[in-house]
Amino acid sequence: MSLSDTIAAIATAISPQQGSVGIVRLSGEQAMAIAQQLFHAGGKQVWESHRILYGYVKHPVSKTIVDESLLLLMKAPRSFTREDVVEFHCHGGIMAVQQVLNLCLEQGARLAEAGEFSLRAFLNGRIDLTQAESINDLVGAKSAQAAQSAIASLRGKLAQSLKYLRGKCLNVLTEIEARIDFEDDLPPLDVEWVKAEVKTVSQESQQILATADRGELLRTGLKVAIVGRPNVGKSSLLNAWSRSDRAIVTDLPGTTRDVVDSQLVVGGIPIQVLDTAGIRETEDVVEKIGVERSRQAAQSADLVLMVIDASVGWIEKDSEIYETVRDRPVILVMNKIDLALTPSPSPIGRGEQDYIFTPPLLRERGLGGEGIPIVKTAASQQQGIEDLEAAILKCIHQDAIAAANIEVAINQRQKACLLRVVQSLANVQIAIADQLPLDFWTIDLRDAISAIGEITGEEVTESVLDQIFSRFCIGK
Ligand code: GDP
Ligand code: ZN
Repeated sequence: MSLSDTIAAIATAISPQQGSVGIVRLSGEQAMAIAQQLFHAGGKQVWESHRILYGYVKHPVSKTIVDESLLLLMKAPRSFTREDVVEFHCHGGIMAVQQVLNLCLEQGARLAEAGEFSLRAFLNGRIDLTQAESINDLVGAKSAQAAQSAIASLRGKLAQSLKYLRGKCLNVLTEIEARIDFEDDLPPLDVEWVKAEVKTVSQESQQILATADRGELLRTGLKVAIVGRPNVGKSSLLNAWSRSDRAIVTDLPGTTRDVVDSQLVVGGIPIQVLDTAGIRETEDVVEKIGVERSRQAAQSADLVLMVIDASVGWIEKDSEIYETVRDRPVILVMNKIDLALTPSPSPIGRGEQDYIFTPPLLRERGLGGEGIPIVKTAASQQQGIEDLEAAILKCIHQDAIAAANIEVAINQRQKACLLRVVQSLANVQIAIADQLPLDFWTIDLRDAISAIGEITGEEVTESVLDQIFSRFCIGK
C-alpha cells in the first residue's frame, strides 16, 4: 500500500435501485487532475476549494455522458485526509457511481483499501487513533447511544483524557530520570508527589476501563435468551416485544417455530433476542429438547428471560429449566397474568397460582431467595413489556456496566492497553514501596506511557494499524 498514490472509492453504501445519492471519493495529489479529466462544469464555475460545482461526468475519450453530478473539491490540508480530496456526488444506485469510479481508476487512481482514507487522516495527523476507531463505531452503530458514544470519541474526548494522563506520566518520568542522571545537582525527588501522581493516573485509567463493558454493550448489544416450557408464551412475548409478526404464534403446545434473531433497542442498548426454538417440538422429546435448548441458549446469553405460565403456576418442569439457566442473570417473566387474575371457571392450575406470588413458597422452591427480578406480563395483550424493559435495564445497571458516567466507551483493544497501563502503574507503586532503585520505577512507568500511546496512536506499530484499519469498510 503506497501512501503517495491517489486513491478512489465509493464512499456511500450502494445497493441496486436504492439511495438517491452515491459518492465517489478521491484523495491524493492527482485527485484534482483526475477530476478535471472527467468532470465538465458549465458556465463560469471556478475550481475552488470548498465549493460545489455542477456539471457532467463524461468519458474522456468518447465524451459520452456518464452522469449528471455535483463535485466538491477540498484542497489540502483542509480535508479529511489532509490531502486534496474530490467528491463526485452522483445519482444513487450502482450504475452511475460504479462507472464514475471506474473512470477514476482508468485515469490513474488506485482503488482504496478498507479504511485507507481514515488511515491517511490518522497518519497525516488529522485525527488520532481513538477518533479513527470511532468512525468505524459510528458507521456500525446500532442505537442512538452507541452513535453518541462514538461521536464523543470522534470529537476527541477519549484522546484528551488519555493525553492528559500520558502527560502526567511523562512529567513524573522526567523528574525521576533527572535524579538518575544528575543526582547531585538537584533537590531530592519528591516521592510523595510521585506516589500521588501515579495513583491519580491509575485511578483515572480504571475509571475509563470501567466503560469497556458499556462500550461492548453499545457496540454488540445484549444477548437475551427467552426460555420456558412449551406454550407458556415465549413467542407471544417476543412478538409483543418486537411488535411485529416475525415470531409465529400457535395454540398447540410444541408447534411453535420462532424467528432466529430479533434485534431490538432498549434504553439505547441494542438487544439481540436469541431464539430458543426453531426446531419443532414433538410430544415425546419435548421435555428433553426444551431443557437442552434452554441450556444452550443460556450459555451464550448475557441475560435470560425465563417465562412461566402464571395461570398454571410453577411446576416441576419449570424447576428443571430453571436449573439450566440459574448461573446466568435471570429475570422471571410470569406470563398470562390476565388468566391468573381473572377467576377461572375451571379450578385446574389455580391451586398453584397462589404460591407463585408468595415469597416464602418461592424460596422453598429455590427461587425468591435469590432475589430474581419478577415481571408480570400478558404477552398476547401486549401488556407488561415496559416493565420487562425496565427490569432489563435495571439488571444491566446493577452490574455497574452503565455506571460510569464517562461519555465515551472504550473498545476491546483500548481495554487491553489500559489494563497494561494499570498493571504497569501497580508495578511502579510496588517498586516505590519496596524502595527499589529508581531505574526500576522508570521501567514500568515507560511501559505505562507506551501503553497509553498505543491507544491514541502516538506509539503504535504498523501491524496494529493494519489490524485496526482493515476492519473498516472500503471508502471510509
Ligand atoms: P411458546 O410455546 O412458549 O412460544 O408459547 P406461544 O407464544 O406460542 O403461546 C402459546 C399460547 O398461549 C398461544 O395460544 C398464545 O396466544 C397464548 N398466550 C401467550 N401469552 C398469553 C397471555 O399473556 N395471555 C393469554 N391469555 N394467552 C397467552
Ligand atoms: Zn414458541
